[in-house]
Amino acid sequence: MVDTTAKRDIRKLKLEELKEFFVKHGEKPFRAQQVYEWLWQKSLKDFDQMSNISLPTRNLLKTHFIINHIQVDTMQRSIDGTIKNAVKLHDGLIVESVLIPTEKRITACVSSQVGCSLDCKFCATARLKRMRNLNPDEIYDQVVAIKQQSEEFFGRPLTNIVFMGMGEPLLNYANVMIAIDKITSQKGLNMAAKRLTLSTVGIAKMIMKMADEEVKFNLAVSLHSALNHVRSAIMPINDTNPLEELAEALKYWYHKRKQKVTYEYVVWKNINDSEEHAQALLKFCKIIPCKVNLIEYNPIDDGEFQQASEQSLNMYMDLLERNGITTRIRKSRGKDIDAACGQLANKT
Ligand code: SAH
Repeated sequence: MVDTTAKRDIRKLKLEELKEFFVKHGEKPFRAQQVYEWLWQKSLKDFDQMSNISLPTRNLLKTHFIINHIQVDTMQRSIDGTIKNAVKLHDGLIVESVLIPTEKRITACVSSQVGCSLDCKFCATARLKRMRNLNPDEIYDQVVAIKQQSEEFFGRPLTNIVFMGMGEPLLNYANVMIAIDKITSQKGLNMAAKRLTLSTVGIAKMIMKMADEEVKFNLAVSLHSALNHVRSAIMPINDTNPLEELAEALKYWYHKRKQKVTYEYVVWKNINDSEEHAQALLKFCKIIPCKVNLIEYNPIDDGEFQQASEQSLNMYMDLLERNGITTRIRKSRGKDIDAACGQLANKT
């Protein structure tokens, strides 16, 4: 039997729904706005701290709702300054999020799912399998926690957000979009959308949906190979979502958004380190304006995947740059605490 007395997580309600709740209980609808500000902008975890809400109203809220919140369970600091948080969710599950400090920026890398269903062969998160999607507030709260750590440990504001933690954001589309809306809203964290990057394995139909919704953030695609047979072998999603479909979706994205996409690309020894692969990437890069991040590989296994030689990286770099494609080599951060790309696996 459904337990109708169970209290709901208040942050699952849209503002409109909260207004309806108040009206139904004989209160003014503007109360919803006030409560919403406490919940999101001020990240309050306790109804009793809502100082402009009367005691009877707070009691009304308490009888119907709870405020679920995350808790930073453990925090590890790398020698390079990177911080990794293991975050406990209300049901006891754990996800990880990372604060990455550089000279100019402080970036929050957040998770969108507990585990991941995609099974990319080089990624540690894939081994956890997907347990559930994160709720909007669970994504939002990871950013809040890192924003506080940024101020506390570095005395600087959080500047950037990347959806490059655990999970595939486009497979938790609705919740990720609500979280982004709150993160970028004046009534939330008021962060600029252009400072936010969503990284995806490249699910074509969801990229088109995002394009239609005219989102304002940046898009990064984990490409890793521009040859179908290689990409399918390392990223099974490519079987049902091949490069041709991805290319069409990216054209549509560019047509709508007029903004460069970033390709994330790891070069591995004997997998994609020859000229043929680099040429294929160059061809793919001509589809729409783009940038390439050549990401350093973070070993997660016993050696099936190995970082390619510097020579191969330079070969990629030269070819792309010679053809006008902005290319950067991205060194990993936080490797000593397993906080680098693809290493998030709840080991601690
Ligand atoms: N599912 C999303 C976001 C999470 S992965 C996506 O696929 O984009 C974040 C980035 O880390 C992706 O580009 C992913 O391909 C990369 N990555 C995964 N495992 C890695 C590893 N072991 N070393 C380096 N990068 C890795």
